[in-house]
Amino acid sequence: TLKGRSAVVTGSTSGIGLAIARAFAREGADVVLNGFGKPDEIEATRTTIEAEFGVRAVYSPADLTKPDAIAGLIALSTDSFGGVDILVNNAGVQFVSPIEEFPVEKWDQIIALNLSSAFHTLRAAVPHMKAKGWGRVINTASAHSMVASPFKSAYVAAKHGIVGLTKTAALELATHGITVNCISPGYVWTPLVESQIPDTMKARGLTKEQVIENVLLAAQPTKEFVTVDQVAALAVFLCSDGASQITGANLAMDGGWTAQ
Ligand code: NAD
Repeated sequence: TLKGRSAVVTGSTSGIGLAIARAFAREGADVVLNGFGKPDEIEATRTTIEAEFGVRAVYSPADLTKPDAIAGLIALSTDSFGGVDILVNNAGVQFVSPIEEFPVEKWDQIIALNLSSAFHTLRAAVPHMKAKGWGRVINTASAHSMVASPFKSAYVAAKHGIVGLTKTAALELATHGITVNCISPGYVWTPLVESQIPDTMKARGLTKEQVIENVLLAAQPTKEFVTVDQVAALAVFLCSDGASQITGANLAMDGGWTAQ
């Protein structure tokens, strides 16, 4: 159980982050939600979590490409819940382009969000974890933290980078009861992925099954998507006592992708 714990989950208005925030709340943790979206939908998500799981949920609209906003996100947790026991650095975006045409501002945005934001949240949250002698940091990396694909230079660089940050923080915090790990999913079934299927079917003249198997899951041996709930279950496990000796690890959940 995570009763009495507080959890900040970045990028938790949708997809993997939302599933992790809900799973923590189900275990009894108070949660700080963050990310973009329609205000009324985010408010509905927040109140549903409170009503369904009997915990407190607060929301920060912080844009995590901005260090000042990140300080505000961590302050919201300490003001609301007296600390930050669990930190999940999950917010991330993708951009696909050959290097020579890669827009410089897209590179800067992806490094800021997918990598540097985790440094800024850690920097602000670690003193609170140290004060309690307990903490859990989980970074959503990717199969692209272990292997590359063409045209994803910024994403792959940021995801490889966050593994280095994870290992360094794990070593620094090892004797403080604080673990720091990455979860590295392969293709996860999110609304984002699902909504791309009809266009690809049309563009390539394929059935839905062919798009899934031959296009989306070409690299994933199980030919099945990871689910957001499976990622969330691993995040919950990493917060348990059973996981207290897992630190500095990069845990793959990718249907065998990176075994190849
Ligand atoms: P998603 O688009 O559903 O969610 C991304 C979240 O980040 C949203 O809540 C969004 O509002 C938020 N966000 C975007 N820009 C932000 C900013 N500047 N500041 C604050 N929040 C911001 O995507 P997802 O698939 O759930 O991805 C979550 C994480 O998982 C990302 O780091 C992604 O790289 C990683 N990942 C996803 C997959 C996949 O197949 N979906 C696979 C491997 C890794």
